[in-house]
Amino acid sequence: MDKTREITVDEFPAFCRAHGLKCTAQRLAVFAAVRMSTEHPSVDATWAAVRKQVPTITRESVYRILNEFAALGILSRLDALPAARYDTWLGPHAHFVCEKCGKVIDYPLPDGMALPKGMPAERHHVELRVSGLCDACRGKSKLQTNQKRR
Ligand SMILES: [Zn+2]
Ligand SMILES: [Zn+2]
Repeated sequence: MDKTREITVDEFPAFCRAHGLKCTAQRLAVFAAVRMSTEHPSVDATWAAVRKQVPTITRESVYRILNEFAALGILSRLDALPAARYDTWLGPHAHFVCEKCGKVIDYPLPDGMALPKGMPAERHHVELRVSGLCDACRGKSKLQTNQKRR
């Protein structure tokens, strides 16, 4: 499976059963909230979306369920960012992380990109992460510098 969306909301109960999980309303709501996302949702963004369906759900439950999904391999968790973010593109790809607004943007890896020689053969995750300013934030900071000059 390369993308979380390959499991439909209708298939999710069977997926849960196959993994020995109960398909609770909470799990289903979290799954439905993230499965089509390309925003690399955070715990807070997911919680905000899920509360519309399940108003009583706690942030802790959302966090636990997201990590449960990551352990099952239906999300991948991006670490070493200011807050945990979750990815629905499960295969190898590149990320641009904006240092100002926190946006995480997906890019395919360059064709024929090779891994460094001599890496151990058992590899579970490949990621290329570039950080900087996204075009929107770069535009804004240019504007600010121009205004200061006046
Ligand atoms: Zn930005
Ligand atoms: Zn991604």
